[in-house]
Amino acid sequence: MNNEDPAAARRSAKNPDSWIPPRSDAGDVDSFKYSFTQAHNRISEGGWARQVTVRDLPISKTIAGVNMRLDKGAIRELHWHAAAEWAYMLTGNARITAVDSQGRSFMNDVGMGDIWYFPSGIPHSIQGLEPDGCEFLLAFDDGAFSEFDTFLISDWMSHTPREVLAKNFGVPESTFDAVPKHELFIFAAQVPGALEEDREAAIGPQGMVPDSFSYRLLAQKPDVRNTGGEVRIADSRRFNVSATMAVAHVALRAGGLRELHWHPNADEWQYYVRGKGRMTVFTGGGKARTMDFQAGDVGYIPQSLPHYVENTGGGDLEFLELFKSGCYQDISLALWMSHLPPGLVQKHLHLPPEMLKGIPKEKVVTRPLWSASRDTDRGQGRLAQGAAHAC
Ligand code: MN
Ligand code: MN
Repeated sequence: MNNEDPAAARRSAKNPDSWIPPRSDAGDVDSFKYSFTQAHNRISEGGWARQVTVRDLPISKTIAGVNMRLDKGAIRELHWHAAAEWAYMLTGNARITAVDSQGRSFMNDVGMGDIWYFPSGIPHSIQGLEPDGCEFLLAFDDGAFSEFDTFLISDWMSHTPREVLAKNFGVPESTFDAVPKHELFIFAAQVPGALEEDREAAIGPQGMVPDSFSYRLLAQKPDVRNTGGEVRIADSRRFNVSATMAVAHVALRAGGLRELHWHPNADEWQYYVRGKGRMTVFTGGGKARTMDFQAGDVGYIPQSLPHYVENTGGGDLEFLELFKSGCYQDISLALWMSHLPPGLVQKHLHLPPEMLKGIPKEKVVTRPLWSASRDTDRGQGRLAQGAAHAC
């Protein structure tokens, strides 16, 4: 470690696999990590927002992320954008609103572990609720997206001739005297009333949207639960509106391993919620790199590049895997090897035949801890029907 500069030494200590890489690492591999703690924070009265996009993490071409905080009552201004918006509630409570192209309304209160999805172009708002507002993660299906260049209702109206606004609504021009001259983005406000009252005030003859724009991800039964951890997958098969985003929420116990695997259909964008872990990405051509992750970090793995995530901390490691796809898919090393003639694999790797025969043929996703009974783990580790088939 660098003993002359304690701050540099502390940074190196947070990245032990960069400072002293595993002997299996080799060659130049593009960085696949960036932290929200390094991102510029846009602070407003009522909250803040910071983003990690392709401008910060050049390989993250398919997904950009935003971390936002809204105080109690504070509003993320009514707006829309070309990218689809996916979100995960980290803490607290929020009210979200949207309207679709047929005039059907949507409004719901969301809490920790809930997700939402607003399709491209659907206008929406977010408001912090009691008791202490909320913090959430937004992900967009475009790495070049910027949360600071969205279409805001105040910004649009202030850039439209007042005589046109008057004609559009059939009212005098003076009606628009008080419209803000500058965008609001995030602003302080009173906490709204009851959800049912707001819904009644907003709904029209077209009714509500047929498929909810929100989904209770953490309330979902895990697809995988074993001694190594648990995984919940939500894509368009369960959360119907989520046509361009799929998520796997992973909680790894201390020592747990998200098994060696890759994703055949999409790049993976990761957000680390809590704990510590490390990941090695193998890029072919004899090249591999290991990087360390902790809460607030973003990771990115291009489509089909193999990787694992290991919990290196003393407690749980919780992270999100996001994909720009309506369909979650992965292929694991164990699944591949267990579905080949053992003799064929043995000729490549010179592994004992008993070891090859012992690899489960079911998908496990998180490796069971070796201290536990493997038979029990295998039964509980199967990916539930519904998420196990490819879509
Ligand atoms: Mn938005
Ligand atoms: Mn993965």
